[in-house]
Amino acid sequence: MPWCIVTDRRRWAWAEIDLDAVAHNVGVLRDIVEPSAVWAVVKADGYGHGASEVARAALEAGAQGLCVAFVDEGVALRAAGIDAPILVLSEQPLDAAAAVVEHHLTPTVYTRRYLDALVAAEPDHLPVHLKIDTGMQRVGAHPHTVAAIVASIEERFPAVELTGVFTHLAVADEPDDAFTATQLARFDDALSHVPSGLAVHAANSAGALAHPAARRSFVRAGIA
Ligand SMILES: *Cc1c(COP(=O)(O)O)cnc(C)c1O
Repeated sequence: MPWCIVTDRRRWAWAEIDLDAVAHNVGVLRDIVEPSAVWAVVKADGYGHGASEVARAALEAGAQGLCVAFVDEGVALRAAGIDAPILVLSEQPLDAAAAVVEHHLTPTVYTRRYLDALVAAEPDHLPVHLKIDTGMQRVGAHPHTVAAIVASIEERFPAVELTGVFTHLAVADEPDDAFTATQLARFDDALSHVPSGLAVHAANSAGALAHPAARRSFVRAGIA
C-alpha cells in the first residue's frame, strides 16, 4: 500500500501520495504525544491526499480513530470498509442524523435539538462526544451550559452515552500566544462538570506538537 494517486479530472494534475510517509508521520506523532493516542483527521479528502487511503495508512500506523467534518465523509470511509471509530467534528444538519446512526459514526453534540434528532433515528446505543467552545467561537457548547447538557443526556437520552469531551484550539500554531493556555484553563474548568473517565481531547496538530498540556487522551492530527 505504499502509494496512492489523487486525480482531479477537471485539471491536468494529479498527486502521487507516499502512504509510507503518512504512516511514518503518524509514528513520529505517536512517539511525541505518548501516552496520549493519535486520531487522524481525514476531512477534505484527507487534505487532498485521499481520505480512505490516508485513513487506512494512519490506522495501520497506530492511529486509534478518525475524525471528519461531514457525515458523507464518514459514510464514504465506512463504504471503503473502515470500521475504526469515526468522530464527526461538529453538529450536522438534523436530516443527516439518521445516517450518523446507521453508519455508526460518533457524533459531536452540543444542543438538545441535535440530540433529539439523533435519538429520533432510534439508535440502540449511541456514543457521543460533547464539544465545548472555549474561545474558538465557531461551534460548541458554552462552558456555562455544559452541566445542563450532561444532565440532560443522562436524564432524557438513555440510548446516548457520553464517551468523550473536547474543545478546539484557535491559535495553537502560534506557540507564544497566551490564548491557548486561556482556552485550556476554561476547558479544565468545564471538565469539572462532566463525569470522569471520558476520552478528553483538545489538540490539533499544532497543539499536539507545541503544547504538551493540550495532549490529553488523544490528539486530533490532520495537517501534521
Ligand atoms: C481540522 C480539525 C483538526 C485538525 O487540525 P490540524 O491543524 O489539521 O491538525 C482538529 N480538530 C478539529 C475540531 C478540526 O476541525
